[in-house]
Amino acid sequence: MYERFGLFIDGDWRARGGQGALDIVDPATGETLGEVPTAAEADVDDAIGAADKALKRWRATSAWTRADFLHAAADRMHERTEEAARQITLEAGKPLAQAKREWALSVDQFRWYAEEARRIYGRIVESRAPGGRVEVLHEPVGVVAAFTAWNFPAVLIARKVAPALAAGCSVIIRPSSEVPGAAMIMVDCLRQAGVPPGVVNLVIGPTATTYTRLMASPVVRKITLTGSTAVGQQMIRDAAATMKRVSMELGGNAPMIVFDDAHVDTVLDLAVPTKFANAGQVCVAPDRFYVHESLHDAFVSGFAKRAGSLKLGHGLDETTQMGPLINQRRVDAIEAVVADANKRGGRIEAGGGRPQGQNKGFFFEPTVISGLPDDAIALAEENFGPIAAITPFSDNEEVFQRANAGDFGLSAYVFTRDPTRIREAVSRIESGMVGVNSFALAAAEAPFGGIKLSGMGREGGTEGILDFLNVKLSQVAV
Ligand code: NAD
Repeated sequence: MYERFGLFIDGDWRARGGQGALDIVDPATGETLGEVPTAAEADVDDAIGAADKALKRWRATSAWTRADFLHAAADRMHERTEEAARQITLEAGKPLAQAKREWALSVDQFRWYAEEARRIYGRIVESRAPGGRVEVLHEPVGVVAAFTAWNFPAVLIARKVAPALAAGCSVIIRPSSEVPGAAMIMVDCLRQAGVPPGVVNLVIGPTATTYTRLMASPVVRKITLTGSTAVGQQMIRDAAATMKRVSMELGGNAPMIVFDDAHVDTVLDLAVPTKFANAGQVCVAPDRFYVHESLHDAFVSGFAKRAGSLKLGHGLDETTQMGPLINQRRVDAIEAVVADANKRGGRIEAGGGRPQGQNKGFFFEPTVISGLPDDAIALAEENFGPIAAITPFSDNEEVFQRANAGDFGLSAYVFTRDPTRIREAVSRIESGMVGVNSFALAAAEAPFGGIKLSGMGREGGTEGILDFLNVKLSQVAV
């Protein structure tokens, strides 16, 4: 499909970039799906120039018209669900049903921000000067560069592009080079919807030509990243030179606390599919399971049994419940986590290695580990793979302290039916998001994001558009 698209600059598909081409690999087979053109510095400069020129027109376009464009793009995206979901599955490996859900969530972002475009309200503040007026206004930040991870090839981009366009910004998307297909289809839907040339641009390629150029440009006024904490920290340092605004959706290491009044089977029905969705490569996936000692053994054996029965395979096979990891580097990283667990006296309750008889692709078994000390890698670090590390607790105070240990603060989960405990947990846990008896955090209407080393800024909700708006004060005297 790549030859139909390419780079998208100033309203046109550019089938060839100045920097050669890149192979895209199906992680379930290890085979090459095709080649995508990669951008040279000159292509990136063209995108910056186009976005700068388009910004003037787009920010002057009424919010009502911008909303119409976003709704029209959502309509086109909805029509192209099968094509997009198939591409997500081929490149990222997730089962087709999960890819369809991701695309639907992406459509939702465009619909939600189409509506939010019309609700960019300012404020009038009482003035000290008689007859005067203090006005607080919002204006688009300007040209935005958006960088995304490979684990959600569509929705990570939609969460940035939809609010940016709604706010009146123009955008240059630079997706993960491993999964460019969904970005191409999304951009093509925006083209079909009639979004003017230059308002959305897509460049693909190595950081040396794309990122470096975008970061150095004073025209680019904002950087928004979904990625790892280390890369986010580097971007914040680099953004200082031109004082770009930054939004950072970074790593997580989510704790999940199961209190003694929870119903084990009900919790497992939700927790096991959530843990192994996208083969565990989800920033908000529960990583560390703190289970009350009275439920611990039943929870571990139930988790292991369910994990062991999941069917692995190619995401296009409708019976597949878990696909591969994205590449061999991730398989090696997960093997290292398991090796550390073995060294630290952990018990492998399910999985623990590459599946037997699966000699193609980057598969790893759904893995459940118990008996680990808190400083084992599986508990202490983001594992970003199919590993559930389960550990008992006896005391509420102790479990909050253990849940809050570490540098991340993206999401956390609590399972209990006791309203007092719910309130206490929500207030005590240090993270941007807390799911109570639920894992459903990612929705267009809800502000998604973290604290501490998990980042800054929010995507989704009323808050999401504020990240793409500058505040302007006007003091009017008469
Ligand atoms: P990554 O940080 O390696 O890459 C993210 C993006 O930055 C990619 O487009 C990549 O090409 C680019 N990049 C990589 N190195 C760079 C550099 N030195 N300079 C400039 N750009 C660079 O992350 P990843 O491996 O693609 O994704 C996994 C990470 O993303 C995990 O830590 C995960 O938790 C995080 N993530 C966070 C969220 C969230 O919403 N908070 C969502 C999904 C993934």
